[in-house]
Amino acid sequence: MVIVGTTTHLRYQSTLQGKCPYCDLNNSNLELQLYCDYTHLTLIPLFPVKRHGSIHCTACNAPIAYEELSQDCKTTVDAIAHQKRLFPIWTFTGSLVILLSLSIFIKNWYVKSHTDYPLEQLQKGDVVFYETENGYYSSFKILERKGPTFKVVHNTYIQNTFFDLEDLNEPSNYSKQKETLTLSDLNTMETKGYIEGIEKSKLNSF
Ligand SMILES: [Zn+2]
Repeated sequence: MVIVGTTTHLRYQSTLQGKCPYCDLNNSNLELQLYCDYTHLTLIPLFPVKRHGSIHCTACNAPIAYEELSQDCKTTVDAIAHQKRLFPIWTFTGSLVILLSLSIFIKNWYVKSHTDYPLEQLQKGDVVFYETENGYYSSFKILERKGPTFKVVHNTYIQNTFFDLEDLNEPSNYSKQKETLTLSDLNTMETKGYIEGIEKSKLNSF
């Protein structure tokens, strides 16, 4: 069962010397405690919610408001609170895990939707993005298919990164010269990991 809730965590504790306005001792031990609240899913912290703190006198146990402190004490408390202003990183654990899982999921979905299209089903109009043997990237377009034989036109542009490879797919970038490729050529490219992705022609998507 997944339980969502908020937990208060004591993250800092120290004793200051100061005047307690209640028992009126001049040198009481005043205990400062700083907390952070965080939301959790069962036992996993998701994200922090707020910071808060308290001060009490260890002699008479009275809680003391910040405004009741001497100026010296206020300065000390301010310095400590400033030092502890950032939430501990572990309070973000759940958010980081969710973000990471989501980005892996989106990346997998993207790769799958761009590559999981069997070469056997390539048809006229489809575009194949590939890596060349010397590490450049380009594409070719299927003009026609007869069984295992494809007539293709190659992109006249190459680039040295696979990012935004789709941008190369401009009709005017393709050569006029037709070349022949066989299904077995394509399978060899895929086995060597040279096929980066396939963009199905809109006509073939329906
Ligand atoms: Zn006191």
